[in-house]
Amino acid sequence: MSNKEMLYEGKAKILYKGPKPDTIIQYFKDDATAFNNVKKGTIAGKGIINNKMSELIMTRLGAIGIPTHFIERLSDREQLCHEVEIIPLEVIVRNTVAGTMAKTFGIEEGLRLPRPIIEFSLKDDDLGDPLIPENHILVLEIAKEDELMEMMEMTSKINDFLRGFFAAVGIELIDFKLEFGRLTDGQDGHFLVLADEFSPDNCRLWDFETGEKLDKDRFRRDLGGEVEAYQEVARRLGISLEVEDKEED
Ligand code: 5GP
Repeated sequence: MSNKEMLYEGKAKILYKGPKPDTIIQYFKDDATAFNNVKKGTIAGKGIINNKMSELIMTRLGAIGIPTHFIERLSDREQLCHEVEIIPLEVIVRNTVAGTMAKTFGIEEGLRLPRPIIEFSLKDDDLGDPLIPENHILVLEIAKEDELMEMMEMTSKINDFLRGFFAAVGIELIDFKLEFGRLTDGQDGHFLVLADEFSPDNCRLWDFETGEKLDKDRFRRDLGGEVEAYQEVARRLGISLEVEDKEED
């Protein structure tokens, strides 16, 4: 990794300058954090699984017409992506009540919602990623109205597709978080693409039959078995856990 220029180190990933203009390399770490960095640890092999799962999901979403930042996986822990200007919003979809929604509204986890809810949080660790209403997003010019509509349309399509995708392997997609970015069109404009990652770090996955949690809640809630849970999701999706070890340099 040494000869790459580091752009940013986040909680679960490191971003490096890519080999071509306007590209970046996402390096997936095993580090896990929760509750805004208060709880820290590692989940062995998580980076490899998240890298490969993101590759699979971004590729499938691309095939159904969702533009993404993903270009190709380079190694076990690295993937090449287009560099985008991240919109500082977390787009959260809830199909079933869990987590913050259960806590905020005093609803028991597990209630299936009659229709999915899409909500936005401001991506700001110092503020604890507060929920932000659409009006505030527009008036504070965090995103334009057409961008907001587009993010919601894409998110809705992604949810429809991924619910079926996970259901096919016996997993219920409870909720998830997406991030979008602006990608330059090479002239004066830009268009929105799905960015960041899709993995058990940013979604809730429950086994359909047993209700067992197969995601980062195992780490957040000290349930144990997080390594096995990530591996189980990978196994069901046909993702190889074999270490290929073809690091770039
Ligand atoms: P909640 O708002 O209930 O904590 O989270 C809803 C969903 O969004 C969960 O699947 C959770 O994993 C994801 N999520 C919410 N905030 C974050 C975040 O800051 N980072 C990550 N990785 N996922 C998040």
